[in-house]
Amino acid sequence: MNKRRASKAIQIGNVTIGGGAPIVVQSMTNTDTRDVMSTIHQIKELEDCDCELVRVAVPDAEAAQAIRAIKRGVSLPIIADIHFDFRLALMALEAGADGLRLNPGNISEPKKVRVIAQAAKERNVPIRIGVNAGSLPETANPKLTIAQRMVDAALEQIRLLESLDFDLIKVSLKAFDVPTTVEAYHSIAEKIPYPLHIGITEAGTPRTGIIRSAVGIGTLLYMGIGDTIRVSLTAHPREEVIAGYEILKSLNLRQHGPILVSCPSCGRAEVDIVKLAEAVENQLIKIDKPIKVAVMGCVVNGPGEAKDADVGIACGKGRAVLFKKGKKIRTIEEKDFVTALMAEVERF
Ligand code: SF4
Repeated sequence: MNKRRASKAIQIGNVTIGGGAPIVVQSMTNTDTRDVMSTIHQIKELEDCDCELVRVAVPDAEAAQAIRAIKRGVSLPIIADIHFDFRLALMALEAGADGLRLNPGNISEPKKVRVIAQAAKERNVPIRIGVNAGSLPETANPKLTIAQRMVDAALEQIRLLESLDFDLIKVSLKAFDVPTTVEAYHSIAEKIPYPLHIGITEAGTPRTGIIRSAVGIGTLLYMGIGDTIRVSLTAHPREEVIAGYEILKSLNLRQHGPILVSCPSCGRAEVDIVKLAEAVENQLIKIDKPIKVAVMGCVVNGPGEAKDADVGIACGKGRAVLFKKGKKIRTIEEKDFVTALMAEVERF
């Protein structure tokens, strides 16, 4: 795995992005931002699953102003997502937004960007230049690849912000197509010092979107690219946060709660391992500590194949071996499989 790309650190509320800080997991609400109570409720749900930053859509002035009340009800830093109307960015800043996301595809006029940058600078609020393959500026050179056009759109706005002595910048270059996204990030990573927000846009429902995101985000992270991630899913945003941590855990980039190791089961198994693994997974949701838990379908191969697990069970007919780091502790009865394993998890 490549060494992480060095990037400048920026601060969004109390969260540091870049500069070697842990990779931040973020999400976006899908409530109507003007509905303050629903939005607060959903952000609290995101806080409960350890989301670290949240973005809210700002389609109009009422939504921009709602940020003030939303901020009073939550502790996560709030990023305002702005499209088309630069005045909404100013209102969101006025209402206390901790970060802004601008799309150069629909706010690119230098005089408007200048006004936003000035107001953001006064409040020390970073701006994400959020390029999206589906909404590139009309001026983009059609002879270039989509990835190159995305990079050019970002660089143009970066240069504009830099000319205004504004450097609280974060950049994203998202496409639905994974190779395009990887090419774009790879290209810009060596051209700019700013932290990168990575993700695959409109990735789909959890069934396919998590895979698409894991491949795209995972490839970039493996290349050492990325300071904050958002897994875009057509689902409750909680699913995005869970998937985000799973991607980071898969690459050993963050620890977050337990890791479940479970075998796919085969003809040797004498228990319903699918049902058992699901039952254990549901119990593990309540556990905060980083612990590796194994659920294996047979005693012959189970303990050996899962020997790096902190605790685990390897099942036989009606009984299972409870093991710790590959070493047997004791034998348990089928009715106790889940409770005995969870008691060992708690004790660990
Ligand atoms: S641990 Fe046993 S049951 Fe599970 S896949 Fe391996 S051999 Fe099959």
